Amino acid sequence: MPPMSRAFASAAAALATLTLAACVSSTAAPEPTAAQTPDSITPAAIEAHMRFLASDLLEGREAGTRGYDLAAAYVASQFRQLGLEPAGDKQSYLQEVPLQAHWLVKDGARMAVRAGSRTTRLNMGTQFVVASSPLHTSSMASAPAVFAGYGIDAPAFKMNDYEGLDVNGKVVVVLTGYPSSLPSEEGAHYGSTREKQRTAAAKGAVALVSVYTERFEKVSPWTRNVQNLDAMQMSWIGPDGAPFVVAPPIQATVLMSPADGAALFDGAPRSFADVRAESVKGAPKGFPLAVSIEVAQRSRHERRTSANVAGVLPGSDPALRAEHVVVLGHLDHEGIGAEVNGDRLYNGALDNAAGIAAVLETARAAATSPTRPRRSILFLAVTAEEKGLIGSEYFARNPTVPSGSLVGAVNIDMPILLYDFTDVIAFGAKHSSLEPVVADAAKQIGLTLTPDPMPDEAVFTRSDHYRFVQQGVPAIMLSTGWNTPAGAGEGGKAFGGFLAQHYHKPSDDLNLPIDYNAAAKFTRANYLIARGIADADAKPTWNEGDFFGELFSARK
Ligand SMILES: [Zn+2]
Repeated sequence: MPPMSRAFASAAAALATLTLAACVSSTAAPEPTAAQTPDSITPAAIEAHMRFLASDLLEGREAGTRGYDLAAAYVASQFRQLGLEPAGDKQSYLQEVPLQAHWLVKDGARMAVRAGSRTTRLNMGTQFVVASSPLHTSSMASAPAVFAGYGIDAPAFKMNDYEGLDVNGKVVVVLTGYPSSLPSEEGAHYGSTREKQRTAAAKGAVALVSVYTERFEKVSPWTRNVQNLDAMQMSWIGPDGAPFVVAPPIQATVLMSPADGAALFDGAPRSFADVRAESVKGAPKGFPLAVSIEVAQRSRHERRTSANVAGVLPGSDPALRAEHVVVLGHLDHEGIGAEVNGDRLYNGALDNAAGIAAVLETARAAATSPTRPRRSILFLAVTAEEKGLIGSEYFARNPTVPSGSLVGAVNIDMPILLYDFTDVIAFGAKHSSLEPVVADAAKQIGLTLTPDPMPDEAVFTRSDHYRFVQQGVPAIMLSTGWNTPAGAGEGGKAFGGFLAQHYHKPSDDLNLPIDYNAAAKFTRANYLIARGIADADAKPTWNEGDFFGELFSARK
């Protein structure tokens, strides 16, 4: 899963800145026995996949590298062995994703603030950061600045920060994040740099400058945003040959240091301190600023490719087999990077060799079940998740099966398989008819379904399933719960410990005390969820009036 700060970095990226053998008849109820006892999912099988995928040989499986390609070949080989139908390009299991890798050229970044005849130049990396662009090797904007509150236009919440403002051709200055009045998942959507770029462009703006709120400083500290400023970012290239960006008119996307936001408010009706103070509880209204802002970025570009891996297990029901349930996980991780405790190899054992192992064993259980699933199941290992959910977005927008045939998605990303668990969490379930499906699957193997214990993290918006949600497809991502046979909440320590010590570090490797029995149990739960969706009479639906259902069905 990409870290929270990637909300900016990957917006920073955009910134350029959570199934079958004997046929069953379509009328018969699914056989309750064989399909629901997925005994073929074993701890040893999960461990075998993980020992290969997280081995040093694969060098951290970064998208666009040989290590990733080897991992993709492994998954394709497994799909072939299971008899899945190739669902990639040209009768293969691989869907090549054309990518634009882009890097910021640091000494090409410039920013100046003009107030009357006085011009103040700012320093890149200490006072501001600008994102690289996948579209332009160089671009700039120079225009009067307008403060537009949080930069959010959310009709469902009767909130429009642009109301009464003319930002056409202007540089828009917005607060980071979202007001506390918005619920966390909806807030994470509107608070993302990507959504703010899209909104700003729709209103006619030419550049987006974000200034820190106090709340956002805690979530995504400035020091983290200035690390790895010239790290590679990625964008996918569409069938038209152009790198995909959400807001082509935005020429530059900037984050100001917390100390330097005030300069943009010199001479304005209200001070930055004043606006920041109001943002703690409310949503400050916008106003034209007294300054003009000039900002420029320079980027280096390189074309690469990296493949999604896709295979289909055809459904048994003639009336339902044209529909696909997607079971996916990301195959990439962070490759070779900064050294931590003498290790530079980011093996990504839990993130996400574990998830791919679970996808593969879900596929095996489905393919060898005596009762074939009624709907088809598309098994998918996606690339470049760590670069901003790139491979999944490419697939969701350019599917290799008829678009519209995707009826539900089950994502497996970074399961914390370090302890026995007695409950599960299903990010996204509360938005659709998938919640009872998950609860039922959990119950079949003696697990309970617990509400999201960390709603502020907005995991629902942070992993690959969200790219399917954005195409109107109901989706969930399962997580191990925090209850264990040793006591309620005990698992939370191991969960939190992993996030604090090993998440996105070289130590997320096979030296972790991985509980492969827990891994098998977790995989069985995912299998049963996939079967629950595939075998149900009706396809999944968004809950009546659900925010995400309404937003993305409407936007399609
Ligand atoms: Zn990750």
